[in-house]
Amino acid sequence: MDSSNQQFHLPNFTSTYTAEAFCVLKAVQFINQATKNNYVICTDSLSTILSIKSAYPTNPIIQKIQDSIHQSLTQSNTITILWVPSHCGIRGNEEADTLAKEGATLTDILHLPIPSRDLVNTVKQKMKEKLQHQWSQTTNNQLRKIKPSLKPWKMNGTRRERVAATRLRIGHTLLTHDFIFQKIEPTQCTTCGTRLTIEHILTECRSFDQQRITCKLPPTLTECLGNDNIHKALTYLKTINLFGRL
Ligand SMILES: [Zn+2]
Repeated sequence: MDSSNQQFHLPNFTSTYTAEAFCVLKAVQFINQATKNNYVICTDSLSTILSIKSAYPTNPIIQKIQDSIHQSLTQSNTITILWVPSHCGIRGNEEADTLAKEGATLTDILHLPIPSRDLVNTVKQKMKEKLQHQWSQTTNNQLRKIKPSLKPWKMNGTRRERVAATRLRIGHTLLTHDFIFQKIEPTQCTTCGTRLTIEHILTECRSFDQQRITCKLPPTLTECLGNDNIHKALTYLKTINLFGRL
């Protein structure tokens, strides 16, 4: 069987869906210029196959595939489009994956009409980067100090645990701020003689050095309150009998 390869570097914001459809389009266009009559196009893109079957596709590349297939059929060609599962060790498929990775390094970028929908993810990503940059430049913000990344904080567990986690993260708990309601002086740590804060309890207080080691609490407040360690922080607070006062 004759063998030839083609590689293209599509614009960076092209979606996977558009790129996969583009490959099928190139295969049909290849068939239209070849001399034999029976062809099988193998693709691992089920979404492309389903779109080709659609009566009214909106993606311009799918529309071009349909036009090219129609043209091919008028030339008495028979085209079978075969779905092959990806990453199953099928030789041609693995070769195509390798060529695709190499194609991404080509310096010539193909100019191709891309659906506006493909830009949505790129725009979203750029917006996230811009917001993160602004957040990183923010000073004099208590939340910024303990939450350097804009990625959402996550918390599983009981409602009481989720409430406690939120109070820890905003730094306001009954334990540390009850003095405001009582209209008295800020609460002091009876062991260390300093202002009682969430940071002091989680990272500094000498009374609980051993429990911090036992619960494997990280050394900084930012780490303690992050997604990876918040459950350790809650376990630690239960161990030192302060969880109920959050
Ligand atoms: Zn202390």
